[in-house]
Amino acid sequence: MLTIKDYILVENLEEAYKLNQNINNVILGGTGWLKLQNRNIGKAIDLSNLGLDKIIEDDEKYVIGCMTTLRDIELNKSLNEFTKGAIKESLRHIVGVQFRNSVTIGGSIYSRFGFSDILTSLLALDTYVEMYKGGIIPLKDFVDMKYDKDILVNIIIKKSKRLVGYSSFRNQTTDFPVLTCGVAILDNGKVLASIGARPHRARVVEDSENILEVKSMENIEKFAKYVSNSLKFDSNMRASGEYRKHLTEVLVKRTLKNLVEVK
Ligand SMILES: Cc1cc2nc3c(=O)[nH]c(=O)nc-3n(C[C@H](O)[C@H](O)[C@H](O)COP(=O)(O)OP(=O)(O)OC[C@H]3O[C@@H](n4cnc5c(N)ncnc54)[C@H](O)[C@@H]3O)c2cc1C
Repeated sequence: MLTIKDYILVENLEEAYKLNQNINNVILGGTGWLKLQNRNIGKAIDLSNLGLDKIIEDDEKYVIGCMTTLRDIELNKSLNEFTKGAIKESLRHIVGVQFRNSVTIGGSIYSRFGFSDILTSLLALDTYVEMYKGGIIPLKDFVDMKYDKDILVNIIIKKSKRLVGYSSFRNQTTDFPVLTCGVAILDNGKVLASIGARPHRARVVEDSENILEVKSMENIEKFAKYVSNSLKFDSNMRASGEYRKHLTEVLVKRTLKNLVEVK
C-alpha cells in the first residue's frame, strides 16, 4: 500500500526541487506506477499547478511538459503528422484510454522502464530531456544515467528531418510488451533502430557499417540481423532471450521495409 503523510501543491520548480531532496519525499506524476508500490511517502510533491501539462510547438521543436498525459500526446495532431503516426502507435497499446488519460510523460521517461514503449519511440526521434538542475540532456544519454533527485521538466523533440516507424509485440493486448522497436531513416539516409523490452531498457543501434547504403531487401535483412546481434537479450516470464532476439529481426525488418516503401 502507498501511504502519503503530507501533500504539497508546489508554486514553483525551486520549491519542488528543494522538497524532493529529502529521501522520503516524492514527485507525483499521474501516480499510475507509484500507487502500485508498497511505500511510505513523507511529502508528495504535486507539479499540477505549474502549467507543465502542455505541448508547445515552434518551427524547430516540440516541448512537452512533464505533466502532459500520454493520451494528450497520442491525440496531438501535429506530432502524429510529424512522426507519421509512430508516436500514436507507441502509446495506443498501453493499458487503456482511461489509464493513458492520467499517466504522464514525466513519470514515464523519468522512470526509464525497460518495457517502455514511449521510451523506445522517443529514442528513434531526436529527443532530449530538460532537467531542472541538470539542463538539457540527449535522451540516449539520459537512459543510462542513475536515478537522482532532479526534476524532469520537459521533453524536447527536435524537428530534424527523419522518417520514423514503431512496432511492438505483445503476447496479449494491453499486456506489457515482449519487444518494442523504433526505426528511423535520417535525412542523410542513415538508419538507426531503438529496441526495448529486451527486457532491459531501450538501446539505439546505428548502422555504423553502412549496411543500408542501398536499401535493398537483402540489406534490410542484413541490418535486422546486425541489430539483433548487437544487443543483449534476456528471459523473463513473458519470453525467452532467444525469442526476443528473433523478434528483433522480424520487427526491424518489417518496420524498416514499411518506411522504405513510404519514402
Ligand atoms: C499496470 C501498468 C501497465 C503498464 N503498461 C505499460 C506498457 O505496456 N507500456 C509502457 O510503455 N508503459 C506501461 N506502463 C507505464 C505507464 O505508461 C507510465 O509510464 C507509468 O505509470 C509512470 O507514469 P506516471 O505518470 O503514472 O508516474 P508516477 O507513477 O506518478 O511516477 C513514477 C516515478 O516517476 C517519478 N516522477 C514522476 N514525474 C516526475 C518528474 N517530472 N520528474 C522527476 N521524477 C518524476 C515519481 O517520483 C516516481 O518515482 C504501465 C504502468 C502500469 C501501472
